[in-house]
Amino acid sequence: MGGRVVVVGSANVDVVVEVPHHPRGGETVLGGDVRRTPGGKGANQAVAAARGGGAETTFVGALGRDEAAELLLSSLERAAVRTDLVDRVAAPTGTALITVTPDGRNAIAVAPGANSHVRVDAARSARLAAADVVLLQLEIPVDAVRSAAAAKRPGALVVLNAAPSRRLPADVWSQIDILVVNETEAADLVAGLPGPTTPATAPADPSALAAALLGRVPAVVVTVGDEGSLVAERGKRLLTIPAHPVRAVDTTGAGDAYCGVLAAALSRGGSLDAAARLANAAAALAVTSPGAQDAIPTAEEVEALAA
Ligand code: ATP
Repeated sequence: MGGRVVVVGSANVDVVVEVPHHPRGGETVLGGDVRRTPGGKGANQAVAAARGGGAETTFVGALGRDEAAELLLSSLERAAVRTDLVDRVAAPTGTALITVTPDGRNAIAVAPGANSHVRVDAARSARLAAADVVLLQLEIPVDAVRSAAAAKRPGALVVLNAAPSRRLPADVWSQIDILVVNETEAADLVAGLPGPTTPATAPADPSALAAALLGRVPAVVVTVGDEGSLVAERGKRLLTIPAHPVRAVDTTGAGDAYCGVLAAALSRGGSLDAAARLANAAAALAVTSPGAQDAIPTAEEVEALAA
């Protein structure tokens, strides 16, 4: 049985073009046909927690009153994510412009739109207080992140995926139980930490980054793309989880598949190590097909690969 996960975050329509290489400044690159698919870190992670992780999942976010909003709602509902606390606001639904190269790598520019209006009111706080895991990212106002984390009940976990890179206020750092970052985000956070570490001297390897971040939070997961992920917990030995060997088609949303399945496994009371192994399998499957939410595997597929 799944536990309860509440994801507070962004929802975007992803406008995707496959290109031979990402355009440099001033360059125009001709690509393939355009695809419009459901995305946004919050919505992707909610779909992953529900479909890929089997958790009872609520998504708290904000959408416009446009066609893109319908695309997102139907994707969330298809994955059995509860959408009763999604606001409809007078701003366009968030939009991400994405180019993908043949090796599956992406470059992304986001227009936040409605995501700037995500809020945590009394009804949303009540749902958050019933969650086993509160899962957050940084594509929404930091005030909403702070209020969502503050609404958790004692004993529940706050998992923050600190993406995209952004400076975190001290009070938000202290709300985090588990921090999930990729290598770039880890380096950015370490560079911004108070103390002797500066951007010029910041440690570069993921285990040193994880160790530095453990000074601020009790547990850190650093994802390292096709090398897998690292799990660091205070007082425990660092665990390295190698990536599953797969043919990457589109890595968009790999990190989101990871975070959603991690949160779902934690919501059932599993250890962080065990949750990270499932997350690693989910993310590997997600990179083998195009799209973000559309590429998220089922819990059965995830468990079969992780076994
Ligand atoms: P994205 O922004 O593309 O969603 P990210 O930068 O947040 O991804 P990554 O570290 O690139 O995160 O990838 C997240 C996880 O996805 C990795 O820890 C790994 O488990 C899995 N993964 C990514 N790329 C591959 C790959 N080529 N093969 C297998 N697993 C992969």
